[in-house]
Amino acid sequence: MRRGLRREPSVKIVLIDFHTHSSASDGALSPEELLARARERGVALLAITDHDLVSGYQRAAALGAASPRLVPGVEFSCVWSGVTVHVVGLGIDCAHPALRAGVARMAAAREERALKIATCLEKRGFPGALPGARAVAGDSQLGRPHFARWLVDQGHVASLNEAFDRHLGQGKPGDIKAFWPALDEVVAWITDSGGVAVLAHPLKYRLTNMKLRRLVAAFAAAGGAALEVTSGRQTPDQVRHLERVAQDFELEVSIGSDFHSDAPYAADVGVDLSPFAGRRGVWRRWLDDH
Ligand code: MN
Ligand code: MN
Ligand code: MN
Repeated sequence: MRRGLRREPSVKIVLIDFHTHSSASDGALSPEELLARARERGVALLAITDHDLVSGYQRAAALGAASPRLVPGVEFSCVWSGVTVHVVGLGIDCAHPALRAGVARMAAAREERALKIATCLEKRGFPGALPGARAVAGDSQLGRPHFARWLVDQGHVASLNEAFDRHLGQGKPGDIKAFWPALDEVVAWITDSGGVAVLAHPLKYRLTNMKLRRLVAAFAAAGGAALEVTSGRQTPDQVRHLERVAQDFELEVSIGSDFHSDAPYAADVGVDLSPFAGRRGVWRRWLDDH
């Protein structure tokens, strides 16, 4: 029997984002701009999760804006079984000694890496790389992109691509790995400071399924609470796969865009929560009715 036209129930879309970057680390938008972008898009809950620092979040929080609601966040790099892994911390207390010590430790590791990159470039005939790259970085965390920009500005290379292809990219002398802490250490910084540890973008590490499951087991054993099941433009199959892994290990799920800038194949700020209604989501700590 055919039914008459029926009005679809209106679905209220709730957007949240538990993984974004500001220019305090390697994002294109200042913390203020990122907050404004999230507000324009109607994001209800936002975590600014800059790499290894919380100053971007703190700058945004200092604005005291009513919307979006900010969740304190960070994204720590660490090592597990020879693989560099990222762990997002949500709801951390930025003033807690454990977290402050962690942030200081990461800054020291990045500083040491920057020094090594500069020394390497000097040996290759480019003096003044460290102050040069620092001037390019300004308030942002110093990294390889700033060295690349400096090489271009100095006329040593014609483009950023050439800077990476010849000097800084994978396998090149300036591709110096920072000495990151172990997975369980960064999870402890997060949980000791009252936060929730989330394994970021689990598919980005390009592990076999078996090794991914070993990583998730180690993460859970260290006190990790959740898997990030959305990131950038993952396919629905990938999301479902990660949801199953989370379920198998009795972990919660988290969602985020990993927004850095407007770029092809990148997701904008804000992830629709509705497909995840009823899931064991980390967001339930901050949203009552989801
Ligand atoms: Mn990044
Ligand atoms: Mn990451
Ligand atoms: Mn990220």
